[in-house]
Amino acid sequence: MSDTWTLKASEISESVSRSRREFLRSLIGAAYYRSLFSVSVPPSTPGSQSPNRRAIVVTFGGGCRDEETFMPQGQQNIPHLLMELLPQGAIFTRVENRGILGHYVATASLATGVYETFDNFASVPPQFPTVFEYFRRDLKRPSSDAWVVAPSNGFNRIGCSDARSFGPRYGAQVVLPKRFLKQALASKKTDDYEHLLQDNYETPLFIPQIEEPRISLREFAEVLNLSVTDFVTNALTLSSPDELSLYVAKQLMRRYAPNLLWITLHDMDIAHAGCYSLYIEAIQRTDRLCSEIWRTIQKEPEYAGKTTLFILPDFGRDSDGSVGGNGFQHHRTGDARSRTTWLLALGPGIHENTVVDRPVQPLDVVPTLGALLGFDPRMARGKPMSELL
Ligand SMILES: [Zn+2]
Repeated sequence: MSDTWTLKASEISESVSRSRREFLRSLIGAAYYRSLFSVSVPPSTPGSQSPNRRAIVVTFGGGCRDEETFMPQGQQNIPHLLMELLPQGAIFTRVENRGILGHYVATASLATGVYETFDNFASVPPQFPTVFEYFRRDLKRPSSDAWVVAPSNGFNRIGCSDARSFGPRYGAQVVLPKRFLKQALASKKTDDYEHLLQDNYETPLFIPQIEEPRISLREFAEVLNLSVTDFVTNALTLSSPDELSLYVAKQLMRRYAPNLLWITLHDMDIAHAGCYSLYIEAIQRTDRLCSEIWRTIQKEPEYAGKTTLFILPDFGRDSDGSVGGNGFQHHRTGDARSRTTWLLALGPGIHENTVVDRPVQPLDVVPTLGALLGFDPRMARGKPMSELL
C-alpha cells in the first residue's frame, strides 16, 4: 500500500495539514514547530530510561472528519481538545495512514509499527511483535504492567503477536468490558442496555469468533477490585461503550498503575449507521473522555508528571466531495483525505501549544514509545518522533 502513495495523495495530505495548522493558529495561537525532517534518534538501549516513565495511548477506532472537528463549524464539538489539551501539548497535523482502513487491522498496525495486512474481520493476532511484547520482554516487566482496553470483541487478539521469540508470554492483558457486561446481563430480559453492548458498527451482523474468556466474570470483577454487583451497577449508569472502557481503564490505573496502557475508543463509528446526530454526540463524548483521561493522569500520583499521553484516530472518514464516498458515514474510498489524520501528545518535556506539520505515519508511534520507555522495537518500520523526545 505504501508504494501507491502518489504525488497527488501527498498534495492532498499537505493541504489538509496546512488547513489544520491555520485553523489552530487562528484559534489558539498555536506555535509552528519548524522541523522539516525527522532528526535521527539513536536507538534506545533497553532499560536506559527511567523505570517510572509511563505512556497511555488513546486511539479512536472510528475517526472523525475535519468538518466536524478542526474546521470553524466543527470546533464547538471538541472544546476540550482545542482549548484544554492542545495548549498543553504538541499536535502532528499530518499523520498519513497508508495501510488498510479497517479498525482492528489499523489498530494492530499502530501497535506493531508495521502495516499489518490480515483480514480485518478475522480472529488472528498481529503478525509482527506488538509494543506490549517489546516493552515487557526488553524491560522484564510483569503482565500487570501492560493492558489494552478495547471496545469490540474483534480486538481480542491484539495483545500479542505470534512472532517467534515473542508471543503470549510477553503480551498485554486485553480487557473487553462489553463481553463481561453482556455475560452479567444475560439473565435480564430487556433491550435497555443494547446501547452499551453493540459490538461493531460497520457490519452489525458480524459476530467475531472468540474463544472463551480465560477468566470468569467474577475474576474479571476482582481484577477491577470490584464485586460483580458493583461492576454491573456502575456500568449501567454509563451512557456508552466508551464510557464503560474509560471506567475500566481508571480502575486498572488505580489498581495496577500499568506503565503502558492502550485504550481504544469506538463510539464515533456509530456514523456507519447513518445518523449524523449520533456521530456528533460521539465526537463530543470522545472529546470529554480524552480530557477525563488527562485529568485522571494529573490526579493519580503514580502517573502525574511522568506520563506521556498520545491521542490519535486510527484513520478518517470519507469527505462529502469524494466520488463513491458516503460522506461522514463510511471510510470506503481510501482517498488521501480520509488517510490524513493527526496525533496529539502531552507530557513531560513536550513543547506546549505546538503544531508539527511534517509528514509522519501511524507506524512512528511504537518507535516513539520505545525511545520514551527504553525498549527496542526492532521490527517496527517507523521512526521515533524526535519532537516528543
Ligand atoms: Zn468504521
